[in-house]
Formats: sequence, structure tokens, C-alpha cells
Amino acid sequence: MPEGHTLFALARDLDAAYRGTQPTATSPQGRFAAGAALISGRTFVHATSWGKHLFVEFEGDAWLHVHLGLIGTFTVDQHRYAGEAPVVGQVRLRLATEDHVADLRGPNLCAVITPEQVEAVTSRLGPDPLRPEPDPDLAWRRISRSSKTIAELLMDQAVLAGVGNVYRSEVLFRKRVDPFRPGREIRRSTWDAIWLDLVDLLPLGVATGKIVTVEEQVEEVRERMAVGQVDRLTERSSYVYKRQGEPCLVCGSRIRTRVVGGRNLFWCGRCQRRR
Ligand SMILES: [Zn+2]
Repeated sequence: MPEGHTLFALARDLDAAYRGTQPTATSPQGRFAAGAALISGRTFVHATSWGKHLFVEFEGDAWLHVHLGLIGTFTVDQHRYAGEAPVVGQVRLRLATEDHVADLRGPNLCAVITPEQVEAVTSRLGPDPLRPEPDPDLAWRRISRSSKTIAELLMDQAVLAGVGNVYRSEVLFRKRVDPFRPGREIRRSTWDAIWLDLVDLLPLGVATGKIVTVEEQVEEVRERMAVGQVDRLTERSSYVYKRQGEPCLVCGSRIRTRVVGGRNLFWCGRCQRRR
């Protein structure tokens, strides 16, 4: 499932392609014909993301709300002749101008909603480390009162928005936190360290298109970002994610896995032992 960094980059790309234009909206597949008709020809004001939700404001208080879910994709392509871009697969929504075509396929949710409905959705979401001025105290209040494990809580979008299965396993390893510790037994300093690490790591995911968590790679990407030479990465490396049975990069113990909060959690039993 795409995590918050993917939606943030998507909002940025849509904004760069369409801001201030009046794209033609269609539903080649037909399932979103009425919604597309509502926004077609209206001025694209701006796109933004909050966690795994994408919002696009069109003039006249019409907001496009998209959640990609597990398999959805939204691709933005530059074409010389947008009108000639072939429709490939089941395209729920196409936004087209003279020089850009964006195709949405397989989303979990795609709707045109009001500003009040946008507010209703975002008020139920926890802070997103990529948004301007997020409130980590809101997440802390929910974590520190909960008997659920920290591994479950990090996946709960009402606690923290944008973090998915890869970032939760990796950040808990990076901070050596026992994933099965209940939220109410987590120290404030531990939460602060987790939050700051996510604030630090997510922009690297936006810049490279990959989740970067292994320290050598983190430093390498940071150095390249500092001089404005970031390339998209093709491979992801991880400490624990999908490394079950392999030796821990730090202590050599075997990485373990178990379903927690509906998804496979990965962790090192030795590095992340309860202290
Ligand atoms: Zn280890």
C-alpha cells in the first residue's frame, strides 16, 4: 500500500502539472462519469495530501478526494498530444490538458466532496509528519492512553497519518522499541524520538520515491539532497521489513515476523527487547 510519502509526491506532481489550468475530466471506465462531469473544465486550484488521502481543490468549492487503497495508482505524464494518449486498463478518472495526462486506476475511494466533508475527513486523521505544522502531541495523547501495542498504534491513521507497514517496522527498529509494548507504557522521550525520526525520514521517501531507512543510505541521500542531486532510487533496502529469517544487520539474530494490526510486522527480537 502506498504510504504518506507517495501521496505527498503525487500531490506535488499534480500541482506542478495542473495548478491554475482547467483540465478536462473524464471517466474512460465509466464508473466515475458523474463525478468527472462535476469537476471537468473547472480551475484546478491546488492539490494536497494528508496521510494516505489526496485532496484536489477545484474552483467553486468542489474537492476531489482520492484514497488509493492497496492497489490504486495515479500517474501523471507529460504528453505532447494529450488527446492522443491511449487509455490503458481501467481508468477511473483522467485529467487532461494540452500537455499533461493523469490517469487514476483502481482507487479504494474517488469522490467529489464539499469543503465541510474535507474537514470531516481530516479531523479524524492524526498528524502527518509531512504536513506543515503537524501536532505530534495529538498523537501522543492517543498513544499514551492506549492499551494497544505501539506497532498497532503506528498503523492507526487516527493516531498518525501516512505511516504504513514499512515505516512502522523500520522506525521501531531504528529506535530499538519493542513493538509489543502497549502505548501507555511508552515513554514520552521514546515517542518524541519516533516522531522526529519520521519527520526526518519521510522527506527522503518523497525525494527518492523509495522508503529509505538504512543509515548508510539515509546519509547518502541526505548528502545528495543537500547539493540538489537526488535521483529516484530503484531499490529499497531495509533493516527488518521483509527480511524475516535473515540475520539482523546490527546483531545477527534472525529477523522475525507476525501479523499485527492486519499486516505483517517485522522486528529483531534481540535489538528490540523490552528494557
Ligand atoms: Zn538485531
